[in-house]
Amino acid sequence: MTISQTPAKLLPAGVQTGRKGQDTMYKIRLKALAKINLGLDVLRRREDGYHEVKMVMQTISLYDELEIKKTKQPGIQVRTNLYYLPTNENNLVYKAAKLLTEEFQIRDGIAIQLQKKIPVAAGMAGGSSDAAAVLWGMNQMYELGLSRKALMERGVRLGADVPYCILRGTALAEGIGEKLTGLPAMPKCYLLIAKPGISVSTKFVYENLHANELRPKQHPDVDSMIEALRAGDLELLSSRMGNVLEEVTVPAYPVIDQIKKCMKDEGALGAMMSGSGPTVFGIFDTQGKARKAYHAVKAGQLARQVYLTVPYNVRRQKFEK
Ligand code: ATP
Repeated sequence: MTISQTPAKLLPAGVQTGRKGQDTMYKIRLKALAKINLGLDVLRRREDGYHEVKMVMQTISLYDELEIKKTKQPGIQVRTNLYYLPTNENNLVYKAAKLLTEEFQIRDGIAIQLQKKIPVAAGMAGGSSDAAAVLWGMNQMYELGLSRKALMERGVRLGADVPYCILRGTALAEGIGEKLTGLPAMPKCYLLIAKPGISVSTKFVYENLHANELRPKQHPDVDSMIEALRAGDLELLSSRMGNVLEEVTVPAYPVIDQIKKCMKDEGALGAMMSGSGPTVFGIFDTQGKARKAYHAVKAGQLARQVYLTVPYNVRRQKFEK
């Protein structure tokens, strides 16, 4: 077992480009990185059905790979290694390509090859990150000149997490997830990611969160998590983590608690469900402990997809707020 996809290999999204003749870029290879939520609070449900949230987001070095190519055959074609994923307009990469081809009247055909590694429907923003990569990649390929802000404005039309997947790193997400503030980078650590072989519908989780409206919720203290990030204190950060959605998902799927317990027994500083689940992540201060936990989760057959990885941080000019 090796640490999956070490950050050294991770350059900003477009890593290899193909050029025909002098100048025209005809293909681009990209990495779409997953996220975890170090903190997730739901403040209220808006009249339009969206939820107002307060989340601490962290990009991790686990990614899908995409190749975007210009083709003579018109239209958008999507291919993926997972037979059960849609390849039509229901795939977020298709939607992202369509948005830009329509707006900029791009007449070429576009072929997108998507190699999924990020667990699907798992609370890791896999689809959103793929969409973000397509926006970023097509902006490069066609020299559209869109700023990061302009890409993020387009991204939110595809999904609330897409702007964050364009920004990346450690960030506070508010509003429906699209109001972003950069935060100090998560301190160096090792992350164990475990996705049990169950599917959890995000709709089910949010509906049941509201069904429990009368019960007082355990709201995570997101502000104190931000203080821990400012202090660069991994232990404090791990002890302050909280996800209000666990209240719904954990009782329905006890395996989530089993995975958390297994990781903590093996020395995790903290272990929590990401997003609406069912993926669990554990934070470790040494690679040795993280490896032992990896083997324990595997041996206990608690999860099908298990990855050892690290946070992915970006340099920011300044930290606001
Ligand atoms: P989030 O953390 O934002 O809630 P998620 O991890 O729960 O995301 P995704 O893996 O992004 O969920 O995808 C959920 C559903 O979206 C899948 O069931 C799938 O059918 C559909 N989908 C569309 N495009 C993609 C894509 N590129 N990758 C994965 N799923 C996709």
